[in-house]
Amino acid sequence: MTTRFAFTISATDGAARTGIISMQRGEIRTPAFMPVGTAATVKAMKPADVRATGADIILGNTYHLMLRPGAERMARLGGLHGFMGWDRPILTDSGGYQVMSLSALTKMSEEGVAFSSHLDGSKHMLTAERSMEIQRLLDSDIVMAFDECTKNGAGHDEAARSMERSMRWAKRSRDAFDAGGDHAGRAALFGIQQGALDEGLRRQSADALIEIGFDGYAVGGLAVGEGQEAMFATLDFAPGQLPADKPRYLMGVGKPDDIVGAVERGIDMFDCVLPTRSGRNGQAFTRNGPLNIRNAKFAEDQGPVDPSCACPVCAGWSRAYLHHLVRSGEILGAMLMTEHNLFFYQALMADLRAAIAEGRLAAFASDFRSAYNYKARSG
Ligand SMILES: [Zn+2]
Repeated sequence: MTTRFAFTISATDGAARTGIISMQRGEIRTPAFMPVGTAATVKAMKPADVRATGADIILGNTYHLMLRPGAERMARLGGLHGFMGWDRPILTDSGGYQVMSLSALTKMSEEGVAFSSHLDGSKHMLTAERSMEIQRLLDSDIVMAFDECTKNGAGHDEAARSMERSMRWAKRSRDAFDAGGDHAGRAALFGIQQGALDEGLRRQSADALIEIGFDGYAVGGLAVGEGQEAMFATLDFAPGQLPADKPRYLMGVGKPDDIVGAVERGIDMFDCVLPTRSGRNGQAFTRNGPLNIRNAKFAEDQGPVDPSCACPVCAGWSRAYLHHLVRSGEILGAMLMTEHNLFFYQALMADLRAAIAEGRLAAFASDFRSAYNYKARSG
């Protein structure tokens, strides 16, 4: 019997940590970046190619999967892993954030969220109990508690009411997860801290979650439009309110420089659509900042996307070719741009892990920011 869930920190550097999460379907090196596999696919990438970029874990979206192909159908087909051909850990979100941002006619109550599908208008109800059931039917490895993402700009009282409801839903999530039989014996459950940008509310939320007890803790409610400065200001206190011996996950983050700053502040896990979605739109990440491959100046540029990148795309094809593919709307353009971007993100995580292990994170982060912001400075 292998370990259900264990987090071993091998080194720290300031507030940053590096280590390994051990689960039955494999190990997750932290700090970790999770590519987003919204609809049972990391768009434009086969699972083996996602793995080859260095990803130890991917993320699946409960909201999308419950609507299509449907959680019960997925269970009849043997769960998400076999269905999509990814045998390593998968984290699923609770659906709470996406139901509010994507579906129509939402009605929030203490019970949960009633909504109409953005696909066909069909009526659904998502509650803490149903979210846990769906994530169990998918056979998720890391299950996220059902919560309400407090909207950016909420005042103190509104943020407090929203956070308190999320804490009641966290308890219901814990109880429903624990009643999940075999699945509860092999999967992990993470709680989600809310409280907007307020240190006192974040503290109350952390204390409520710790009282319930979770395998890991997410910092929720950030990367919703507050900006990097406000996000970092919140991360100066929020991770430290959560247990030091459990993984801390910053949901929906982010840009490469967001990730570096969050790792410096004690975050262990990340997910974001940026490398995949923006890759399909022609944005490539490089150590000297992002570039838009559609730009005319790349039409005859025979160099690789990023000269410092060791990925198969940079080894095999030029900026000029990618420029042509993306401008022509060729499917291969989306595939190669996505592959490079995911490699870039995973190489960054590997560099962060090495820098923490060797006690030189501050120097690495300073050098990274200097190179990454070079173009912004030079105009
Ligand atoms: Zn590359």
